[in-house]
Amino acid sequence: CSLCEAKVTDMRSHVGQHILRALSNMPESLKEQVGKVLPCGFCGRSGLPECAIRIKVFASGPPSLETKCICHFVFKYRFADKGSKNTPCRNVPVRCTLCHPVLPPEPGKSTRKVIPAFVDAVWRYNMVEHVLDQHEEYSVPGHREAGAPLPAQVWESMRLTDLEQIAARIPKERWQVGREVDKENVIASGSHTRKRPALEPATSLPLKRPRTAVQPLQISCTSIA
Ligand SMILES: [Zn+2]
Ligand SMILES: [Zn+2]
Ligand SMILES: [Zn+2]
Repeated sequence: CSLCEAKVTDMRSHVGQHILRALSNMPESLKEQVGKVLPCGFCGRSGLPECAIRIKVFASGPPSLETKCICHFVFKYRFADKGSKNTPCRNVPVRCTLCHPVLPPEPGKSTRKVIPAFVDAVWRYNMVEHVLDQHEEYSVPGHREAGAPLPAQVWESMRLTDLEQIAARIPKERWQVGREVDKENVIASGSHTRKRPALEPATSLPLKRPRTAVQPLQISCTSIA
């Protein structure tokens, strides 16, 4: 690992923890700090053209990934996406369904036939930053109050598990703010002591949100690769 100089075999999981700690304001003493803007989930650096990553999602089976990052390696996507007891880190590239909505099936069909294509992927831990920057019409728990609530599928793609936050040694008070249930647990820290206003229902939905009933192309966390 070029950030901490440790010898690691699973850079995805290892670097994911560096990134999560950086995002949670838990700076580490590293030889090289984690990139500030949308860091690459394989090497932890920002802004390198070779770290651009693309994803092709299929109706079934794990997605294909395409990147030239020097730390890139092939991993079991479904397994990593789900997280496990021994490897809880769910640092994987995802397809943003706000950028690339999954269309509902045509009337009378249960799925919509879509020819899979490569699209720009966003690493899960960068999804918050991505939505804050690219999808200003949506609120992001703990980051932006105003806006429409995130569609469940988008929230799922950025949600962190307890296990992965524990594994990254994030103190509980800095854990990701949940969507509704965790709202009460928000701890105002440091400069940000303003009382959070109660969650208001979004009065003006920005776009017609795609209905999320059937999503054949959804990256499923439920099946096992
Ligand atoms: Zn490291
Ligand atoms: Zn990289
Ligand atoms: Zn997007």
